[in-house]
Amino acid sequence: MPDKSFLTWPFFENRHRILAERIDAWCRTHLTADHGDVDAASRDLVAKLGRDGWLMHTAIDPDVPGALDVRTLCLMRETLARHDGLADFAFAMQGLGAGAISLFGNAAQRQWLKRTRTGAAIAAFALSEARSGSDVAGMEMTATRDSDDYVLSGEKTWISNGGIADVYVIFARTGEAPGAKGISAFIVPSDLPGFSIAERIAVIAPHPLARIRFEHARIPASAMIGAPGEGFKIAMATLDVFRTTVGAAALGFARRALDEATSRARQRQLFGAPLADLQMVQASIADMALAVDAAALLVYRAAWTKDMGAPRVTREAAMAKLFATDQAQDVIDKAVQIHGGDGVRHGHIVERLYREIRALRIYEGASEVQKVIIAKQTLSGG
Ligand SMILES: Cc1cc2nc3c(=O)[nH]c(=O)nc-3n(C[C@H](O)[C@H](O)[C@H](O)COP(=O)(O)OP(=O)(O)OC[C@H]3O[C@@H](n4cnc5c(N)ncnc54)[C@H](O)[C@@H]3O)c2cc1C
Repeated sequence: MPDKSFLTWPFFENRHRILAERIDAWCRTHLTADHGDVDAASRDLVAKLGRDGWLMHTAIDPDVPGALDVRTLCLMRETLARHDGLADFAFAMQGLGAGAISLFGNAAQRQWLKRTRTGAAIAAFALSEARSGSDVAGMEMTATRDSDDYVLSGEKTWISNGGIADVYVIFARTGEAPGAKGISAFIVPSDLPGFSIAERIAVIAPHPLARIRFEHARIPASAMIGAPGEGFKIAMATLDVFRTTVGAAALGFARRALDEATSRARQRQLFGAPLADLQMVQASIADMALAVDAAALLVYRAAWTKDMGAPRVTREAAMAKLFATDQAQDVIDKAVQIHGGDGVRHGHIVERLYREIRALRIYEGASEVQKVIIAKQTLSGG
């Protein structure tokens, strides 16, 4: 049984505790970890999560705009990730993909949320380019004003849900200023003429991913989120919310690894006694338990701080993401070690976790980028 004692922490309200139990029960009856066709499985997961109301938590209610509840997002992601990485991915991308619309969209643009919150539309967030992954402000894709329209030209890569999304939030250079201040955000439906999937990308933990292309794709100026030149700010504010949730997903993977390792250590007999009797194994279990609790404290500190109305949680979110993802990698590695040969057997749960965790230390800002953020804010006394 996973440790749920953290739910008594003062970061949570009763509604969070109830939600955590409900989503856990839902996962136990609705999720199978074995996915064949990853596109079909992702579509199916979005449909199921939408049908049963869980996607409501991924975006604000367009008719009663309020704030996103980051603790709810984190509890959802942690629990889904503990059961099934692809289910977490399907949930998370509805949130990240629609995040800029939740945070900055006008009333007309928020109508998209009716579809993303029910699973009727699949969402994607398109920021990265081949030559500007970590260096977001160096992006080259352009959006050129032409009367009442913008014309999009260029490519984005590593786009999660690329190939299956119905709506993309795209960031492109509109040229108000050089660098970060010359970027704007747009809502782009996938049936836009001039839009295409240039390449599908396969990764170690399969999920829908693509390089996408725009060739003189014309969209109305009303598709712009916020004002011209605000795109970088919009992207960073969106990541401020969702980076913490990446930490929560890592925490879910780490908790699962710890559970699997402890039950294996109790059951496996070696040298005439359970593996758990060996002190070096106990040391590993202790390190894992400590890492999980410390990561949970940082994740829910960041989520609670945001929910209490902090305008930005850049430092807290960076710490949560950096620590939780790095530690989860180590926890999962230890779980693989405790499982011996079974730990690397293709399809074993800890082998899957080993593959699932890796990309989290790269996307939404690599670990080094989080360190730069933390150092800058610490050195400036903020
Ligand atoms: C599975 C997956 C899903 C993704 N999904 C999306 C998505 O949905 N939307 C989207 O827009 N993007 C997405 N990305 C892209 C992701 O955000 C980028 O891969 C990431 O920002 C790193 O960019 P890059 O790959 O170009 O690596 P680079 O920018 O070339 O960086 C390479 C490495 O350099 C190091 N580094 C970078 N900056 C610094 C620094 N300041 N100091 C020291 N070292 C540094 C880090 O170790 C980094 O990993 C996804 C990526 C992956 C792998």
